[in-house]
Amino acid sequence: MPASARIKGRPASPGYAEGRIHLARDPGDSDYVPASSAEGEIEALQTAISVAISGLQTLVERAEGDAVDILEFQLAMLADDTFFEVASAKIGEGAQADIAWRYALDEEIAGYLASDDEYFKARSADLTDIRDRVLGALTGAGETVIPAGSIYIGDDLTPSAFLSHDWRGGGIALRRGSATSHVAMLARAAGVPAIVGIGAAGGAEGLEDGVSALLDSEQGVLIAEPDAKERAEFQAAYERYLKTIRDADRNAVQPALTADGERVEIFVNIADPSEVDAIDVATVDGVGLMRTEFLFGGDRGLPDEDDQYAAYRKVLEWADGKPVIIRTADIGGDKPIEGYSVEEDNSFLGMRGIRLSLRRPAVFRQQIRALLRSAPSGRLKVMLPMVSVPDEIDRAIALFEEEARLLETEGVEHAIPEIGIMVEVPSVAVQPARFARAAFFSIGSNDLTQYVLAVSRDNADLSELADPADPSVLALIENVVAVARAQNREVSLCGDAASDTRLVPLLLQTGLRKLSVAASRIGMVKEVVRQWRKAEPAPGLRHTA
Ligand code: PEP
Ligand code: MG
Repeated sequence: MPASARIKGRPASPGYAEGRIHLARDPGDSDYVPASSAEGEIEALQTAISVAISGLQTLVERAEGDAVDILEFQLAMLADDTFFEVASAKIGEGAQADIAWRYALDEEIAGYLASDDEYFKARSADLTDIRDRVLGALTGAGETVIPAGSIYIGDDLTPSAFLSHDWRGGGIALRRGSATSHVAMLARAAGVPAIVGIGAAGGAEGLEDGVSALLDSEQGVLIAEPDAKERAEFQAAYERYLKTIRDADRNAVQPALTADGERVEIFVNIADPSEVDAIDVATVDGVGLMRTEFLFGGDRGLPDEDDQYAAYRKVLEWADGKPVIIRTADIGGDKPIEGYSVEEDNSFLGMRGIRLSLRRPAVFRQQIRALLRSAPSGRLKVMLPMVSVPDEIDRAIALFEEEARLLETEGVEHAIPEIGIMVEVPSVAVQPARFARAAFFSIGSNDLTQYVLAVSRDNADLSELADPADPSVLALIENVVAVARAQNREVSLCGDAASDTRLVPLLLQTGLRKLSVAASRIGMVKEVVRQWRKAEPAPGLRHTA
């Protein structure tokens, strides 16, 4: 490889790493020693599946949070006999166990990879993981050993391979991959730098095992065999980043005041209630978004009223009197739930969020009852997702009032919370004043961006276009903030833009003073707020003029 190759990718988990390149090997490359009969092949496959299951069980015991769900999903797939039966039939036709197992899984993996839906595409890594674990057990290759501190290069990385390795000091650059995959999510949670899509321009082809490399996942670039200038630039950027993180962690419990002394409230976004166990409540002003749809997925089916009540109450008690915005289930779109959401061609424009809740009143009423019952445990605010016309708020409020009356007659303790809305559909952002019954607004920059720019948020090939800093999106945010201020209504922003330190100054310039961010970004966002000073006049930000 020529000295100093710069390979562009897309950031998937922020950070910097310096190490030697470790090129992924296919565990199926090791030789499989065939058995002497079809029965022997089937027995070998059964044993390998059991070994893979027990390997995953060990990982589940050590895992936490979302990692547990991912591994349990894989365990369920392995415990289900579908793949084994396909492979056994193939062995019956004379195939070896390793070939039969590949046959059973590869077709399924190809199906997921060919999907237009980024969510399903990203799930192919889970199936590849299952395939390779069993192949590894069959060939005796075991788990791939990645040397400590190296920069892993592969097509994709499986969640359990990620969880089996200690990534301290190292990083990940994937030829394919997706920023919405499970492994990207795990990398962000663990603070492991990662970039994806380095295979796109063909630049990753000449990479060699063992050569030194720099990974800058802030910029989304991998530099193989860097020269002295590139090393020095990398070092300087890395040190700036480390200093910011150190300052951020040290000051995270302090409130965020801008350089002009204005207070900016920083809230946290959560999904599973267990996430609060790892967050110091003193570092935040409350919960700005609890995405309850994650309680509805998985193997457990739809949660009942009591499960939901326990989940909401846990978060309200943790918040210790600080406000907690719990969003009613935003199912559909990129978050389908089998047997509940509707299968449709254009799901982002379809039966999603409040539209689906109003279509399924029995399930919605259960969630409403759980929310009403949990309200006395803290400062609950309820938020409706994907509102596009005022009538949706009226209908939701009517259901809250009806269920409250029923709880009253049943003698069950409850309280009616404030009910606000997500501002993520352009119809709301253009004319927020029409939505007068909303007690508060929270801007969903992820969906607002996709709907304003007509670019699907999960299309990796169009990710450059899906820019929340586009003047059209910022103009709408500015409009919502101005209307909310004039009407004395609270307004915050809880989309991913609030966690992106490059975008925070632009958001503050629109007038926003409440941001809800990912748990790992609390300190960093506060640091950016502290360095920000209001610009007069705002360069490039006269959107509404
Ligand atoms: C958003 O759209 O910005 C948002 C916060 O909601 P979600 O990402 O869950 O759709
Ligand atoms: Mg949204």
